[in-house]
Amino acid sequence: MTKMISLEEARELVLSRVTPLEAETVDLLDAAGRVAAADLKSDIDVSPFAHAAMDGYAVRRCDLAGATAESPITLEVIDEVPAGGVFEGTAQAGQCVRIMTGAALPGCFDAVVKYEIVNMVEGDGKPGGRVAFSAQPKERDNVREAGEEARAGEIVVNKGEAITTAGVGFLAGCGVLRVPVYRKPRVAIIPIGSELVPPSENPGPGHIRNSNSYALAACAKAAGCEADMFDIVPDDEAALETAVREAAATHDFVVTSGGASNGDFDFIKPVVERAGELLMTTVNMRPGKAQTFGIVDGTPVFGLPGNPAAAYMGFELIIRAGLLKMQGRTAFEHPTIVAKLTCDKKKKDPRRLFMRATLSHGESGELLVTPAKNQSSGLFGPIQKTNCMAVLPEGAQDAHAGDEIACVLLDVAEGTVTVI
Ligand code: AMP
Ligand code: MG
Repeated sequence: MTKMISLEEARELVLSRVTPLEAETVDLLDAAGRVAAADLKSDIDVSPFAHAAMDGYAVRRCDLAGATAESPITLEVIDEVPAGGVFEGTAQAGQCVRIMTGAALPGCFDAVVKYEIVNMVEGDGKPGGRVAFSAQPKERDNVREAGEEARAGEIVVNKGEAITTAGVGFLAGCGVLRVPVYRKPRVAIIPIGSELVPPSENPGPGHIRNSNSYALAACAKAAGCEADMFDIVPDDEAALETAVREAAATHDFVVTSGGASNGDFDFIKPVVERAGELLMTTVNMRPGKAQTFGIVDGTPVFGLPGNPAAAYMGFELIIRAGLLKMQGRTAFEHPTIVAKLTCDKKKKDPRRLFMRATLSHGESGELLVTPAKNQSSGLFGPIQKTNCMAVLPEGAQDAHAGDEIACVLLDVAEGTVTVI
């Protein structure tokens, strides 16, 4: 129970103890990034009718059989159909209508020829004029068919599918304006430490600002959750037990930081053990060996280390997966790429090492990775200034400049690095 386990085992353990939360129904605009909790069906054919994909002329193909550049065929323009309009008449042989993109294709026509390849013969191409065609279009050319995207009654988004921003548009076209999705987990963030003061205060002697709560709440929000930052709990076992029990009773997932190792005032392990079930205490990773996980009152409780980088890594690499699963997601691997290390790196500690590092491009476009100078687990700054975590696997083997190593992308923005 308290032996050191691998990162993968830790993640599996957390995943094995959480399930998707119940469904709630949200407005379509709030559904992006959420996971559908039921099959979603279109109420109509999308599009509802066959329509022109180009501005041009709706024609009967049979009228244009044999048309060539040398001997074009001329048709009479009998009407014009704008988008939103409907042509009520019927075309006879030798007739066509001018049609705009998005306008319904009248049933008597079977292709649309775009403006650019049609020549005016009489008039300006509008009704009353005559236009010449130098080729026969293919059947249904430039026509978007009725029901091309969805049929009335068809399932358009499956239960368990994450809804994208484009998906929101797709569902709007299908008439799905209220969407059942898995509820967002409510995450409690409890900072533990008698040295901590709220960031709004100037810390006095021996005190530091509670920066972890803010980072962890931001991580929880970025993972799609609602985050509640609890008041600072001093290194006092009874006070911690009270806070953890209260959080477990009112939240879906409890995250603490600090007091997770074996110091005289580290109380998260005994508290979880007494209040519930202690399942894990140490993970084979650096930073962040001391990672406590258990269940209190049926609620997952995760005790992160106090060191900022260690807390951040534990959240991003272990907790985040559990929170995603609670929202119905099924993929948990962080995007990882391989890059060439730009310097030698000694590895004394056999734990899997995550180095704050920066990806860049070499002269021939190859991906390079440079570890930050300061790898202290006590700092957020180097994570803010870098763009990946470069990984050295378990074992005590040194790494050398030119070695190809895995780099985990965490919280990356556009423009950070391009993979060529
Ligand atoms: P601990 O895990 O409680 O031994 O804490 C390890 C280190 O992290 C100590 O230097 C703490 O002062 C620091 N630390 C603990 N909690 C926080 C926090 N909420 N914000 C910033 N630093 C913290
Ligand atoms: Mg402490």
